[in-house]
Amino acid sequence: MTTLDRILVRHSPQTDVHHVVVEAGMLAEDFARELQHVYGLAVPAYGNFAGHTLGGLVSTGGHGSGYANKILVCQVQVHIQIVTMLLFPQADSVVELHMIIEGGIQVKIRRSNIASQEIDVPFDDVRDKIRTANVRSDPIVILSTEVFRAAALGLGSLGVIYSLTIRCEPTFNIEEFRTPVEISWPGERLSGCFAFPSGFVDMYTLDHEFSTFVLHPIPDPSRGQVEPGYAVIHGVYFGGKRTGDPPARHNCCPCCPGSRGLLGCRILQNDCMATALLCGTSCCARQVPMVTKNGLRMLSHRSSYVHQWHKVLQLAPDVNVVTMEWFVALDELEAAVADVISMAVTYGTKCQHFSLLPIACRVLEADDFYLSPTCQSRVAEESVSHYGCIEVPFLPGEYGAAQFHKVIDELLLEKYQARPQWGASHLLTQPRVRKSYPELDKWLQVYRLFNKNGTFGNAFTERCGFDDPDARKSKTQSISRTRSFRRNRRGFVDQRPDSSIFATIDEVDDPIIMSESSV
Ligand SMILES: Cc1cc2nc3c(=O)[nH]c(=O)nc-3n(C[C@H](O)[C@H](O)[C@H](O)COP(=O)(O)OP(=O)(O)OC[C@H]3O[C@@H](n4cnc5c(N)ncnc54)[C@H](O)[C@@H]3O)c2cc1C
Repeated sequence: MTTLDRILVRHSPQTDVHHVVVEAGMLAEDFARELQHVYGLAVPAYGNFAGHTLGGLVSTGGHGSGYANKILVCQVQVHIQIVTMLLFPQADSVVELHMIIEGGIQVKIRRSNIASQEIDVPFDDVRDKIRTANVRSDPIVILSTEVFRAAALGLGSLGVIYSLTIRCEPTFNIEEFRTPVEISWPGERLSGCFAFPSGFVDMYTLDHEFSTFVLHPIPDPSRGQVEPGYAVIHGVYFGGKRTGDPPARHNCCPCCPGSRGLLGCRILQNDCMATALLCGTSCCARQVPMVTKNGLRMLSHRSSYVHQWHKVLQLAPDVNVVTMEWFVALDELEAAVADVISMAVTYGTKCQHFSLLPIACRVLEADDFYLSPTCQSRVAEESVSHYGCIEVPFLPGEYGAAQFHKVIDELLLEKYQARPQWGASHLLTQPRVRKSYPELDKWLQVYRLFNKNGTFGNAFTERCGFDDPDARKSKTQSISRTRSFRRNRRGFVDQRPDSSIFATIDEVDDPIIMSESSV
């Protein structure tokens, strides 16, 4: 996939709406750079997408953060004109997917555009079209909200996304704020006492279009004398607003006005530095809280920082982490954060080991994709409008990380029906997927159509219970009778199980390179 990394075409159906067709293997950061420099365009609410591909991000529900933003595939563009919203009422950022599904069949999937008097094709018609298509057919155009809601967040299990059509807008700059935060920690007397400071919730719901915050989950007792009996949780809030101001000229040092804070200097954010820190602190575990607290201090900066949309709100671009992330209803975020911190304290004290990395919190508006962790439908008849997400990262090799993740996972599931992020580590199994995603059956009907013979099935789909157990058995039995493909100069040649070959054998110049069960 990584060689499928080109922007193919750009067209502009409206003056302020631009559709860019890009191959799904392109890295998100390369895409952002090319959009900015070659096309003068932007994708709003981009996340911290360092080494991820667009296909991987879209397939797993990749996201940025902001109260009025959704996951990448469907983020709302609040700045396009009302007339444009009327012409293109569906606000998805990904407008169309070009996929290769089972049997090498190409499909182009999008929602129908009501403004152009398009109507959704019934699912039975989609099924018929796919049943009669073959590897040589032209791409089948599927206008179906149902299919789009399944395929856009398909977890790599519905087929291969070849390209995506992404809705972009003219480039803009963002003014970024990085403000230190202190939250009183009530210690043992936790119940009902932990609260974000007044005005804090407004910062991420009202004040800033883009927002995120990180908290060091180890309470600092040194501030106990300020509020007797209380310790302090240190953190940094990152907010961003669009601005007409030009980008800052300074990037790293904290002393220049408009600079980015000491950790803006990339030399301080790489694996080498992280490993050195990990080694140092494992010799002297008691210093971890102090190191993290100072790290947070270096993340903040005194004045705001202005830069292009894709250059702000980025954290630790060159550090690999082992991470898990959970989504809870936004009105439960505060309580869930309190529980995670409480667990970090208990666990850290018991094991005499504290994480070097702070937890990160983000906010997102809910969406309608069947398997999105921010899907508005949760359990039957309950609908959620906004989600908060909590990410708990560890440096690779940190003691007890997997065990701690598991404990947090169980806690957040039980108390808040948390859904984990598909793209990070997760412990999802069949009963939990079924319980967490009330619209799973709608996704499964597309899965069974696009993946009829289990081509894209694997240990993951089995663990999540996507595969029909009977179909799995028959797949194993029939594996020796699958069709296979050979490649010749004009493309792939379908070889039927009965050995009748569409092309003569002389035209085939490569050996068999793949069978249908491993396309
Ligand atoms: C350290 C770390 C930090 C992260 N930070 C963030 C973050 O800030 N925000 C966020 O939203 N997410 C984050 N994630 C999660 C990230 O969004 C997902 O892991 C994403 O899938 C990574 O993209 P990738 O290109 O590495 O995909 P891969 O890991 O290669 O693939 C992920 C899934 O997508 C499928 N897939 C990939 N390409 C295609 C394609 N072309 N067609 C069909 N299916 C495809 C694969 O089959 C697989 O199931 C983070 C993950 C890690 C490990």
